[in-house]
Amino acid sequence: MLDSLGNLKRTQYSGSLRASDADKSVILMGWVHRRRDLGQLIFIDLRDRAGIAQIVFNNELHPEAHAKAEELRAEFVVAVEGRVLRRQKPNPEIPTGEVEVMATRLHILNNAKTPPFTIEDEVTASEETRLRYRYLDLRRRRPHRNIELRHRIFFEVRKALDELGFFEIETPMLTRSTPEGARDYLVPSRVHRGQFYALPQSPQIFKQILMISGMDRYFQIVRCFRDEDLRADRQPEFTQLDLEMSFPRQEDIFEAIEQVMKRACAVVGVEAQSPFPHLDYKDALRRYGSDKPDLRFGMELHDVTPVFEPASAALNIEGHVQAVVAPGAAAFSRKQLDELAAFAKSAGARGIYTAKVTAEGITSPLERNLGADGLKRLAERVGARPGDLIVATAAREQVAHGDTSLAVAGQIRLHLGEKLNLVERNRWEFLWITGFALFEWSDKDKRWVSAQHPFTGIVEEDLDKLETAPWECRSKGYDLVLNGVELGSGSIRIHRQDVQERMFKSLGLSQEQARQRFGFFLDALAYGTPPHGGIALGLDRVVTLLAGERSIREVIAFPKTTAAQDLMADSPSEVPTEQLDELGIKIKGPSQG
Ligand code: ASP
Repeated sequence: MLDSLGNLKRTQYSGSLRASDADKSVILMGWVHRRRDLGQLIFIDLRDRAGIAQIVFNNELHPEAHAKAEELRAEFVVAVEGRVLRRQKPNPEIPTGEVEVMATRLHILNNAKTPPFTIEDEVTASEETRLRYRYLDLRRRRPHRNIELRHRIFFEVRKALDELGFFEIETPMLTRSTPEGARDYLVPSRVHRGQFYALPQSPQIFKQILMISGMDRYFQIVRCFRDEDLRADRQPEFTQLDLEMSFPRQEDIFEAIEQVMKRACAVVGVEAQSPFPHLDYKDALRRYGSDKPDLRFGMELHDVTPVFEPASAALNIEGHVQAVVAPGAAAFSRKQLDELAAFAKSAGARGIYTAKVTAEGITSPLERNLGADGLKRLAERVGARPGDLIVATAAREQVAHGDTSLAVAGQIRLHLGEKLNLVERNRWEFLWITGFALFEWSDKDKRWVSAQHPFTGIVEEDLDKLETAPWECRSKGYDLVLNGVELGSGSIRIHRQDVQERMFKSLGLSQEQARQRFGFFLDALAYGTPPHGGIALGLDRVVTLLAGERSIREVIAFPKTTAAQDLMADSPSEVPTEQLDELGIKIKGPSQG
């Protein structure tokens, strides 16, 4: 027989009990985390949102409660009435460890099936099982803490932006395609048969229209949807901090975001220093082989192409050669070098060329090709010292309008940084990347495409080149990077209708296509559009980093798998034929699974 909650009122969270509560009468409610039966005494650990407290049932003092406690199993839901006592032997492992509650009455409010995994800090269950039973997984302390942290960060972000005069304004979820470069999720319209809404890839056009509407400062913590091939740190729906300002200089947007990020960091006790440094896109690539460099360690790239020139034919090297200096890695074993080479190959390297620098001299298989002199020049050029390992690399494949050796070397840098423990975990290195090109070469489409999206502003002096030499146009875009993770990007926008039309044209959209897709926006631009700009940050990533987690799935209450499935709700799923009929939809072939 289960008891009812009746008029029972909880006095506090179990997890909040402290020594100062001693002698208080309390009513606690929660889940049976664990039960230990010592005969005359039964102990349970009672768990709620705030933590765990120990409850004692004493057969001599309160036989009725004790008898009832014999029925308890893991995850039963109970209310306990009792008195807080100081423990004779405190448990320093838990915050409530100085006290326990002597139960006078027990109410069993609900029972529970045996869970498929125990609710412990460390789970052994697979991620699949955890996601299928997400409600049980979320009872664990770490997911609980992450969800709370997410709330605190979002709340702080909202407060900071409110103080800066931003309004949070919602934009439609049922809308039309926005050009963020991914596939849309489509929603069929029942009323307008054969027509579709698209879920927003971002509120980009709406936020720009809000600037045209005179709202001046907009932000939104908003869900965005992109149907792209999923990677470990992507979700089909994700949460952005989206923001837009009128009449801004680039610095004004940077300052607003720096404020917000500082406040978000303070939630976890991290003091972020502002202003954040800036790095030109080309310099970032040249020095770190990445447009989102991790600045928590050095190990910059060196272009050593001239040193390798005499040997490039023999070594079959095409393109540039980049090198990094791995401090203290001259002692790498054969096995470690082989591992490094295998990693480099998987990252797109033709191979790696290593040289060990010791007090006695430089040893390297490269001596055959470069000679002792060449090796010396190499070591000088990269500034290697005794104990160091020089790792040079060239890319296997070359692409038009780019230097692939940089990205390959950048990956080797990150790999070695991890391996050699060079990454300082308690450093928080924010970085603005600026100076992007407006277009980038798409090797897939064999044409120039928007490096960001087609509303990104163009550096005034380059406007004339939009039709003649688009690849030379510089954009007014920027990215924010934290510890090697791209948090988001933004730009000062195009605010003139004529320029926006030219931009669409440069991207190969005919006037009809541009009108068909963005006509309403082009119209709006013609009615007095203020200069404006903004940014969007991926908040799931921000919370992941601040929580010290590796996967964004750990900070989302109900995440999808990398196959874009919700295992708990079992979606996507088939729908009844009647529903499809109503929409006028017929499924062509069997599903691809
Ligand atoms: N809408 C852009 C994005 O989602 C960000 C921006 O330009 O504000 O990436």
